[in-house]
Amino acid sequence: MMDASRSESLIAAGRLFHQRGWVPASGGNFSYKISTDRIAITASGCHKGELSAENLMLVDSAGAAIDPARRSSAETLLHCQIYARDPLAAAVFHTHSVASTVLSRTRNSLRLADFELLKILEGIETHEAAVEIPVFENDQDIRRLAAQVDAAMLNGQGRHGYLIRGHGLYVWGSSVELARYRIEALEFMFQCELEAARVGGSSD
Ligand SMILES: [Zn+2]
Repeated sequence: MMDASRSESLIAAGRLFHQRGWVPASGGNFSYKISTDRIAITASGCHKGELSAENLMLVDSAGAAIDPARRSSAETLLHCQIYARDPLAAAVFHTHSVASTVLSRTRNSLRLADFELLKILEGIETHEAAVEIPVFENDQDIRRLAAQVDAAMLNGQGRHGYLIRGHGLYVWGSSVELARYRIEALEFMFQCELEAARVGGSSD
């Protein structure tokens, strides 16, 4: 049921993200879609920089573990929401970087404009574009948070990913590779925004 090649790509992404400081300790969670009712996702509490295939497990589209002896990440329902809402989504990454944590504390959304890397996002063909990354309130009730995200997406928000306040970033793509590129691109742009805010050059 698991796809060895995509599992390996997820594991490699975990090492890379950890080296960059985007998934400290057991923070973050990653998944890929196997079918409409099967998702491979990181198990609860595992270190994302030291993942092995045993740290991945299967859940159904409602987030229930296929093997009841295993426990997936507390945030599994946020992955399920993305797969249910966007049929093109084939992989989801969630990171806990310094930039996304700091920036999301004080803003209700993050506007990214005039970055070359915007072109990695869906439907953006020029750097002369702006995207709005919404910030949702952190909520330990993941079902309630997933419902809020879903309502916003139905409203056309969060198409390119979203932030949870003081917590981290959710991004997806039509392949593990594309989702990883988008995390790298957004984290780079967030880092730029953080540096700009530090030197007082931020426009918002
Ligand atoms: Zn998280």
